[in-house]
Amino acid sequence: MFRETWITIDLNAFEQNLKHFQTKNKEVILVAKANAYGHGDIEMCRFAYEHCNIHWIAVSSLDEACHIHSHIPGLQILVLGHTPIMHIPTAIKQGITLTIPSLDYANALPAISSGLHAHIKIDTGMNRLGCKNLAELKETIAVLQQKQVSIDGVFSHYACSDDQQNDMTSQQLKQFQDMVMNCGYTFPWIHIANTDGSQCMDDSFTNAIRIGLGAYGFSTYQTLSPCLSLKTKIVLTKQIEKGEPVSYSSTYHAQDQQWLATIPIGYADGWSRKQEGRTVYLQDTPATLVGRICMDQCMIHLPKYYPVGTEVELIGDHVSILDIAKDLDTIPYEILTCLSDRIPRIYTYQHKTIGYSSPRFEHDE
Ligand SMILES: *Cc1c(COP(=O)(O)O)cnc(C)c1O
Repeated sequence: MFRETWITIDLNAFEQNLKHFQTKNKEVILVAKANAYGHGDIEMCRFAYEHCNIHWIAVSSLDEACHIHSHIPGLQILVLGHTPIMHIPTAIKQGITLTIPSLDYANALPAISSGLHAHIKIDTGMNRLGCKNLAELKETIAVLQQKQVSIDGVFSHYACSDDQQNDMTSQQLKQFQDMVMNCGYTFPWIHIANTDGSQCMDDSFTNAIRIGLGAYGFSTYQTLSPCLSLKTKIVLTKQIEKGEPVSYSSTYHAQDQQWLATIPIGYADGWSRKQEGRTVYLQDTPATLVGRICMDQCMIHLPKYYPVGTEVELIGDHVSILDIAKDLDTIPYEILTCLSDRIPRIYTYQHKTIGYSSPRFEHDE
């Protein structure tokens, strides 16, 4: 790593979060799509598999699944999204479990699809993927059986589980339960809850939960331990005079003579242009990002002189991703998944660095 901007992932926090969900006596399926919500899918999945008793991973595409499978062949992987029919042989060959999103999809499968493992998706209100009613579910099961597909599970997805007042969640659970109980098939795996769903809705009907955001340290209902922090170091400090502009479009002018520092992070790292004006920290001292965020750099108004090399916290003990998400009018999922692969990830466990990942340094560290 040559540029001193980095993400640290605290694997003790990750382990602790997973343990929290593992006390619910259901199989925890770790959701590791989008590069494990920006944390690094291979490292998080490997740690979960080797240290935390996780056997199932869910991802959004066959691409993500094959990538993880090639590094950690012992994990079972479920693709939650749509897989083009022409790539079914790849899923069979790699032993990856696919989602059957509709009767049409089941009908389009090759006449003999033995070796394919699948979970059927039921649409209980998202109107995204899934069989819409009992008739479609029954026929889908029949078609899959005829084509020798191994039907290992059934699932649905909550639309409003972050809002405990919304009775859509209980309605979805009821519809799911009714359809699964009346379809005439016994599924080994039955799951509907994501992180928030697992906390706001209790059920004895399902035997697995799909945990994404909670594993990484965030949920609507519980205080968990965020795993990720983002830091950089000052690369240049200077004094500017009253009235001097800073950065593109000169949106900021110094009110007085002041200290200004440049840091090497910008919107191409996922540090959005909307972060202009945000507070960052030099140890416990706050400082403000001033002027436009550039592609690779931005500037800080310092309360006093700090030398080149001073560490700057962008996300961490003082700055929560929840606050950033609220300020930017979005959700923590988007802040995390937008942190680009240009930022190296450093993994710590028991106060020691145990791993490092950066696509640019894989071959010539
Ligand atoms: C992303 C996703 C999850 C995980 O949701 P979290 O809120 O991050 O726990 C679960 N199920 C499906 C279908 C998903 O797409």
